[in-house]
Amino acid sequence: MLKLLLLLLLLLPYSLLADGHIFVYHRFDDNRYPTTNISTKKLRQEFNYLKKHNYKVVRIIDIVNKIRANEKVPDKWVAFSIDDGFKSFYTHGLSVFREFHYPFTLFIAVKYTEKNYKDYVSWKQLKKIAQYGSIEFHSYGHGHFGEMSNKQIKEDMDRGLALMKKHLNYEPNLFVYPYGEYDSRVKKVLEPYNFKAVFNQNIGAIHGGTCSNVYDIDRSAVVGSNAKDFKLYLAFKELCGVTFRRPLSYPKDKIIRTIEIDLADKSIKKASVFLSNSGGWHNVNVHNGKIIYHANKKMKRNRIKIGVKVRNKIKLMVLSK
Ligand SMILES: [Zn+2]
Repeated sequence: MLKLLLLLLLLLPYSLLADGHIFVYHRFDDNRYPTTNISTKKLRQEFNYLKKHNYKVVRIIDIVNKIRANEKVPDKWVAFSIDDGFKSFYTHGLSVFREFHYPFTLFIAVKYTEKNYKDYVSWKQLKKIAQYGSIEFHSYGHGHFGEMSNKQIKEDMDRGLALMKKHLNYEPNLFVYPYGEYDSRVKKVLEPYNFKAVFNQNIGAIHGGTCSNVYDIDRSAVVGSNAKDFKLYLAFKELCGVTFRRPLSYPKDKIIRTIEIDLADKSIKKASVFLSNSGGWHNVNVHNGKIIYHANKKMKRNRIKIGVKVRNKIKLMVLSK
């Protein structure tokens, strides 16, 4: 009994007070692409879990408005996004969202729809989908913005936005970076578009107020093998006051040497640092808000994630080549 009580006490702050969360899906019941797919059976399980535990499923814009108003995002607020505009959302996923009356935002890469790629929703289907959720913007060509010139990015954005206006008579408020990749240059190019919010694809939570950056909102992908981590993601809170000092760009020789992170909360003594391809999380000591972790690791992929975690509070960032 005492053991159980202790366990409950340990779990309590994690399960009850855990900020808001946005989840991202791609394909539904499409076993050809296991890494971006979720079965509708699993989706129903997740939705039932949220229902049973009194989560409030809101529109993404509700979360955005909270941050913009400098208010805390209520704990247990959850919102859903679906990226790219795969046809399997229309044929399989949508009916589950409708069954639960859960709002969603579909971020489309316009080119696939405009050119009638067979795996993607048509404009006609998008009009139907828009009756139940909102359609927002995920670029025209789904390119790697980090590798495109400012001019190429602008052309891509303008072309996609014009087509959304033409076919859906809609000017998007929200934007998702293709591949969740961005850097300070890309951010600057997007500034004139005046989106209400821009989203990445880093696992995290949304505290709101000054803790969250409305142009860099975390979304956790619950697809492929990550889908099993749904409850774990729900328990995360946003770690506020994190400044990633270095590295700030993808190293030319692909070697991540020293990771340096500053925490505003100087009372934190212990944290964990995450680096892609390096065996997960590494425990580190924090001195006066400063984390220095000597990784000295060669990276294999063109996209590196670096993160910091203090208990169940988490913050990740991405570097792309
Ligand atoms: Zn995408």
